[in-house]
Amino acid sequence: MAFPFLSQSQMFTLVDESKALVVLVDNTLSAIPGYPLLDCPGLYTYKTPDRTYFAQSQDILDRFKACRNLQKTACDKTQAQRQLQKEQEDNLRLEFSHIFTEQEKRIEAEQLAEKLEQLSLENPLLRQQTENTMSSHLEYLNQRGRIGMQKFFGQHYAKPMVGFTRLQNDQAPGFPGHILSTLRQFIQRLKESHPKIFKNLDSICDETVRKKGDVNSDRLVAKNLRKIYDGLFQNLSDEDVREFTKEFSVSLHEAFSLSISDKLKFWPLHDSHLVQSIEERFYPNAKKAEIARTFQRVKEKIITYVERSAEGKSQDVSQARQVLNGIDLYWPMERMGQEGFTGNYLQSMVTSENAAYSSENNRIKINVPYLSAPLWKQMWTLSHEIGHAIDLSSNRIPEFWKHLKACFEKKGFEETQMGETFSDWLAAEILMEFLKEPSLSLSESEKREAVLTSVWLCRAAEEQELMDPLTGNPDVHPPDWKRINTILRAHPYFNQLFGCASSPSYCSGELP
Ligand SMILES: [Zn+2]
Repeated sequence: MAFPFLSQSQMFTLVDESKALVVLVDNTLSAIPGYPLLDCPGLYTYKTPDRTYFAQSQDILDRFKACRNLQKTACDKTQAQRQLQKEQEDNLRLEFSHIFTEQEKRIEAEQLAEKLEQLSLENPLLRQQTENTMSSHLEYLNQRGRIGMQKFFGQHYAKPMVGFTRLQNDQAPGFPGHILSTLRQFIQRLKESHPKIFKNLDSICDETVRKKGDVNSDRLVAKNLRKIYDGLFQNLSDEDVREFTKEFSVSLHEAFSLSISDKLKFWPLHDSHLVQSIEERFYPNAKKAEIARTFQRVKEKIITYVERSAEGKSQDVSQARQVLNGIDLYWPMERMGQEGFTGNYLQSMVTSENAAYSSENNRIKINVPYLSAPLWKQMWTLSHEIGHAIDLSSNRIPEFWKHLKACFEKKGFEETQMGETFSDWLAAEILMEFLKEPSLSLSESEKREAVLTSVWLCRAAEEQELMDPLTGNPDVHPPDWKRINTILRAHPYFNQLFGCASSPSYCSGELP
């Protein structure tokens, strides 16, 4: 759409100070106040508390908005994509916990079967399933009668641990445990029908519970359990004996299974198949290779940038170069393969959208959701993380960049935030270096788009915590709006690209 107004300057009559028209003159945005808007249909509007701006194209308006508040404009633009990413993270979380629980169940079943098999060598009536264990006991009762069963109980179930070494509760003093609980429950029901037997057996139960766990009580427990079985098998009706055998065998099998599952929760789960399947699912090779390529490009760009900045300053950058060269990407799955399975670690790896530099190992950890971040966000983030290897809080900061600290302080950044601010600054420098490359085949508006999609620091000021919730120390990260609106926004190439009429002060890497 042709813009007739500039050639007809006589038309610039001030009519309303609360309105202004935004136009582009020599690629610089200018606001002309008080333009008579009645003659100009199809204008795009932007309202601030004290003024309404009009632009004759969406593109001009977007640039104007980005100049005024880069963080908000970029975040509005990427909102849909960020929402999508959040949903994807939720799905990953679900998928992950499903894999994890399934695995746990599988291992549990395997271990249970194994332990039961071991135990059935000692106890011929023990089976894998509760039902089968019960029926094998009843069958034995049918064949050998109550005398045979009484003998079997005496042999197998009248030991303090009854062969179930993992039934820990049965060891604790003053705590009945599974076997005694089952016996007591059954005996309780004899109170009305067999008051004499009840009284006798109940007091034996009490004594056993009291003495259980004492160093020398094992023989007493065994003796008492035998007394209880004798009392039951000798005095009850056939029907009651059958009922007792049934209840006892079911309870015993369940108690045993439970005690094993309880234990399993604390066993480390090493499983190379699981590692492999999670790796294939969450860290596909193609994605890893893509990130690795971007990482290599960014790393090389940063090293070149450091060397170029050192030119003519007779300063040694060999230490910085060596550290930067040595940075590696780190896929957490590799550690899982070596160190086994820890649920929380994996959970956070799969679900938090993040990359993080560790100075201890000089490597950058890549979490799963980061693999699907947009390219320009990856560029910014990788530059930021690599920047931490030489940031202002480290002792590897090149001499010629130490003056940046004073500049950041002047812009209102705290002492504790110097590391993060430097990394943000370097990320902005590197992002712009890439965009300035003559070989880059992007149009001006595609480059602007690239800058906007690189911005994902989108928490509003009021949503941000000032303290680190884990340590209670002040957050080393400045607020998101400040990181974007005073560092990235201040870069001269940003201003050139968007045609901003003014800019926050810029911290140049050149010595002042
Ligand atoms: Zn950082």
